[in-house]
Formats: sequence, C-alpha cells, structure tokens
Amino acid sequence: MTLRNADRMARTRWFVAGAAAMGTFIILSGAAASRQPAPRRDGTTTRTQAAKTPAPVARADDGKLRIICFGAHPDDCELRAAGVAALWTANGHHVKFVSVTNGDIGHWKMAGGPLAQRRAAEVQRCADILGSEAEVLDIHDGELLPTLENRKTITRLIREWNADIVMCHRPNDYHPDHRNVGLLVQDAAYMVTVPFFCPDVPPLEKNPVFLYFEDRFQKPNPFAADVVVAIDDVIDKKLACVEALESQFYEGGCCSGVTRLPDDPAAQATRRRDVLDRFRNRFASTADRFRRELAGWYGDEAAGGIRYAEAFEICEYGRRPTREELQQLFPFFAEDVRDAPPDGAAR
Ligand SMILES: [Zn+2]
Repeated sequence: MTLRNADRMARTRWFVAGAAAMGTFIILSGAAASRQPAPRRDGTTTRTQAAKTPAPVARADDGKLRIICFGAHPDDCELRAAGVAALWTANGHHVKFVSVTNGDIGHWKMAGGPLAQRRAAEVQRCADILGSEAEVLDIHDGELLPTLENRKTITRLIREWNADIVMCHRPNDYHPDHRNVGLLVQDAAYMVTVPFFCPDVPPLEKNPVFLYFEDRFQKPNPFAADVVVAIDDVIDKKLACVEALESQFYEGGCCSGVTRLPDDPAAQATRRRDVLDRFRNRFASTADRFRRELAGWYGDEAAGGIRYAEAFEICEYGRRPTREELQQLFPFFAEDVRDAPPDGAAR
C-alpha cells in the first residue's frame, strides 16, 4: 500500500447510523469527500503529501497535553508558536502544526507543485527540530475560503488530535488566508463538541481552549496578550526553524523584494546572518512589547531579564480558562507568582 493510499484509508471513516431504528443504512464518508485532491491550475489533480502521513491518534490519555496549531501557510505556526511548542515537547506534551494551505505561490521565482512539496519538506524539518508533528493541507495558497467543507476538515483535525489547546490567527489580518483560518477555527470552536456534526469522528468531550497568535493589527480591536511565554531557553530551536524555512526567509518568499540570491559563499553567509538577526530582533520585540504581562507570569525580576517571548490571546468561543487552568496548560511559569495575578495580565 502506498503512503498516499494509507493516508486516504486512514482518513476514510465509514459511519453507520440509525440502522435499527430506520430500517436502513445511512452511510457517510465526509472525511474522504472533504480531503479530495484540489484541482490544479492545469486542470489535473494532485494531492500534496502531508509533511508526514498523520496516523490516527489514539484517544487514550497519557496524561500529556495535546496542542494543535493552524497557520495559513507553511511557516505561520513556526514563526508564532515554535518556542512554546519546543517547551511543551521537551516536557513530553504533544504538538501538531497544520498549514491550511500548501504555500504554492509563496516565492518570487517558483510556484505550483514543486514549491508546495518544498515547503512541506521545510515544515517537516521544523517538526523534527521541535519534536512536533506537521501536516500540510492541499489547498492552494491565496485561495482559502471559509467554506462548510473546510470547517468540517478543521473540526475533524481538532477532534483527531484530541486537543486541549487550539491556536490560530485572529480573523483580523492583512492576508485573506490568515483571516479565513481564523474564521474556520472559530467556526469549529463549538462544533468540535457537537456529536452529529461530522459524526464520522467522535466529538471532543471537553471543549479545548482556543488561542490566537500574536499580531499587530489594531482594528477593530488590538491583540490582547492574555498569555506570554518566555522562550529564551529554546530560542536556538526557533531560529533553526527560521533557517529551515529557507524558501521564505533566506530566499525571501514571494514579496520581499529579493530578485536574486548571492553566488559566493561569503555573501551567502552574510545573508544568512542578516536573516537570523532580523528574526532574533522580531522575537525580542514581543518580550519588550509585553514586558508588563511577562512580569505577571514570571515576577518583576525574572521578567526584566527575559529576552524572547511568544504571546497569545484567548478566543471567547472555546473553553474560557481560569488563570489556574492556564498555569496547567502552560506549565512554564514561575512557581512563586502563580498565586499572584498581576494587574493587566491574564483576564
Ligand atoms: Zn501566512
């Protein structure tokens, strides 16, 4: 059996309902229908293989947290949550990054299937660095819509992962794919618990906590840093992910203004260093932006020394966690400030 067939079979779940009561069989194969190959621009169809063929997740509870993050493109989850992912996996918790599109227009020089395959390989390298899992859905970059079919796909992925925490973009964002990932995940936030929505995958018994990635958009409302995590201990892993996402950062992605790459090794090394410096500054800017909130989680003294951070906002539509619950979901904070909620930190 090929990997592709194995994946398709794993995703195809036949559900038989109402047989006794109705004297007939209703057979649903929604998972298979929703994950069919997307049409290509040349009229043929293909399926970009997931970065790693996802096995059905055993629902047995090993006592560890299960986190699933949805980004629009194969780099979004990594840029916004690689640090906290590395902290979780170091403690045995389970993290999965899903790119909801395949990123097939995200480069100034190449596009289509070869770029999608390249980007799937890049996020798989990041998953190897982070000790997490990666999946790339075969939806064209720039063409994601908040359809019922896509809502069902997201709902199934959250259920299959048996998630405690779900992360995504906010629905206010410059990029339509980012906005639509936010809408799709929000629209799944309640449905993951509804038994007869996508009945081919069992509903979650406990509604996860839904969180938004940090952004800088102000309208209609600015990002609220409800949870801020110091990532100094794992910054090298996060920067290694930046390096692994070569098509986007070293080569410049689609719209960075880069039109040629240096040939000589010295210039290449300089460019690599410049890219890492730029991202080091970006990850440091989150710590500076939310220094006050960091103090609420780590104490004033420790917060003053934190260089790098990631921040998350609580979505109103999933489970609304207490501060105590957040401390269990993010078991990285200073013990001695756990009982001292700061002014202005977690709401
Ligand atoms: Zn993106």
